[in-house]
Amino acid sequence: MEFFSRSLVLLLLYYLMWHFASLFEIAPLVSAFYPAAGVILLFVFHYGPRYIPVAALAIMLGGFPYDQFWDWQVENFAMSVRQLLVYAVAALLARRLSAFSLPVKTLHDVSGLILVLTIATLVSAATAVGVLRYMAVLPAEMLLTPVFFSFWIGDLGGALMFMATATLFIDLYEGHDVYRGDVFDKRVAWPLMVLLLTALIVVVYFMAIGVEDVVGRVGYLILLPVAWAATVYGMRFALLTSLVVNLSAVTAYMLLDLNNYPVLDFQLLFVVTVIMSMILGASLEEREQARFDAAHDPLTRVMNRRAFFEQGSALFERARRHDRHLALLMVDLDYFKTVNDTWGHKCGDQVLMAVAECCRNACRQTDLHARLGGEEFVLLLDDADAEQSAVVAERLRGCVEKVIVPFTNHSITASIGISQLTEPTRSLEEMMSQADKALYAAKADGRNNCKIFTQLVRT
Ligand code: GH3
Ligand code: MG
Ligand code: MG
Repeated sequence: MEFFSRSLVLLLLYYLMWHFASLFEIAPLVSAFYPAAGVILLFVFHYGPRYIPVAALAIMLGGFPYDQFWDWQVENFAMSVRQLLVYAVAALLARRLSAFSLPVKTLHDVSGLILVLTIATLVSAATAVGVLRYMAVLPAEMLLTPVFFSFWIGDLGGALMFMATATLFIDLYEGHDVYRGDVFDKRVAWPLMVLLLTALIVVVYFMAIGVEDVVGRVGYLILLPVAWAATVYGMRFALLTSLVVNLSAVTAYMLLDLNNYPVLDFQLLFVVTVIMSMILGASLEEREQARFDAAHDPLTRVMNRRAFFEQGSALFERARRHDRHLALLMVDLDYFKTVNDTWGHKCGDQVLMAVAECCRNACRQTDLHARLGGEEFVLLLDDADAEQSAVVAERLRGCVEKVIVPFTNHSITASIGISQLTEPTRSLEEMMSQADKALYAAKADGRNNCKIFTQLVRT
């Protein structure tokens, strides 16, 4: 069933891409932009060789019903076989060597994809020119430079653009984790405005070329919004920007019938914008990811001990200087060792993730929460006095109480120690050691309760 529905998607996508490309034919059998090859590569690479016969069918049906491709002359047949062979073999090789994985995310994936497509499209172009020459379809002098490069760059740009769009789609469809700060999480309005402006500028630029050829050189500036998008917002937004830039260019090109614009420049715009989005975007995301990993606990994805001391000390200093309240909650799960011993580490890990979620929910935007290690969490509450911090602690304790060990009806509890920033408090470490003492008292008092350090001293 899955094979059937995917095959239908393949046929439909190929058909759409083929007809999209046929709008940009610059010579018989040579399109300025050819994303259909990417469809074959995507399906054979992602889902396996079972889709090669479906790809063959897609190629046969591609030009239906009216195009010259459909009349099955010998050169059309040879060109179709070439396309199927080159892209299916490239996909199978990339699959075997795991040159890249989809959606393309890391620099490794991006470089792998670019390399595979560069080689495949070069081979495809060389074979195509050979076939066309052998069949004497095009005059020999036309075949060498303009047609070869146009064929190559058109295929490369089209396939890259298609794979990039597929990446965007897979990302959104499968809900992949994106690094923090991704534009699609929030802040969409302002970047989208810039996109709209970019589209407008591209259209105006192409109109200007229609009037005066020399304006063409200004075209390099079109690369800037893409570089900006990639380095500020990452790959997904950069790919969207490339799509907008290229589609506006294509639309203007079609609507204005700009036959005087050199096709090769137009094709290069596709290739350069997409490659730039991928490389710059992926390198930004890798750096952001590394920064995130260095500061967060891999299991619960909350801040780790080191990052907590860094950010906590800054918050501590600010609170002291501005004479603001500050409270620290030290949280330790009760008898957690039993959970691991009875139901296994995996269940223990799930419980830790649920507790981290409780900590996250207990915090306001300006508060900090972190996993100190093992089953110990810490919260630093900005501008919270003794009463407020006790309320938060009690709420957190209530939340943990509701956490159930997976596949059992056993719930867990936590003990919480609270300390406050007071006049004599010298450092964050001091607050932590006071909260630790309060925690110890909470444990001694039967667990599953909260204790405040100051009250401890008084009694
Ligand atoms: P108490 O009420 O006195 O705090 O008892 P406890 O069993 O919670 O205390 P103890 O500190 O002796 O045990 C902590 C346990 O936490 C030991 C270890 O098995 C478990 N633990 C520490 N880190 C992890 C982790 O990353 N995953 C899992 N599943 N368990 C962990
Ligand atoms: Mg402990
Ligand atoms: Mg414990």
